[in-house]
Amino acid sequence: MERPYADDRVNDTRTRDTVVEMMAERGVTLEEIADIAYDLQSKYIKGLTRTQCLEHVERVVMKREVQNAILTGLELDKMAEKGHMSEPLRSMLMEDYGLYGIDEVLALAIVNVYGSIGFTNFGYVDKVKPGVIKRIDEAGKAKDRCNTFLDDIVGAIAAAAASSLAHRYAD
Ligand code: MG
Repeated sequence: MERPYADDRVNDTRTRDTVVEMMAERGVTLEEIADIAYDLQSKYIKGLTRTQCLEHVERVVMKREVQNAILTGLELDKMAEKGHMSEPLRSMLMEDYGLYGIDEVLALAIVNVYGSIGFTNFGYVDKVKPGVIKRIDEAGKAKDRCNTFLDDIVGAIAAAAASSLAHRYAD
């Protein structure tokens, strides 16, 4: 019998594949997220490689809380685009209304897993918008496109991976 999606395992490779695919559909690869984690940590960890960063991004997307946040956030972005959402929420998401704030709150569920370094990194990434986050943010400004949750989710995964690296390698 096929294993159902909602089981009790903390690490779920099947849902991992689903969320990785969902992010790819929305234009983001794990490698690009790893690049942000590299930029965040390379000055603190001597000899850090992009491969190590990618390993930690992979580790982050194995966590159930992270997968659930990705599933929820990306679904809301897509529903807003398709118009499958009531007002005023739809306009708030389509226009990435600055005082909405729930996109950041959802992303905190990702950062939460990795403690206080995660929060600091997330704040930084949210402000500076490095690499792919800037691109997501710009693409989301198109009239028919909604990346309101995606940018925060990507930033949070990068911040969480950076924290995971810090816990693993920092002395
Ligand atoms: Mg956002």
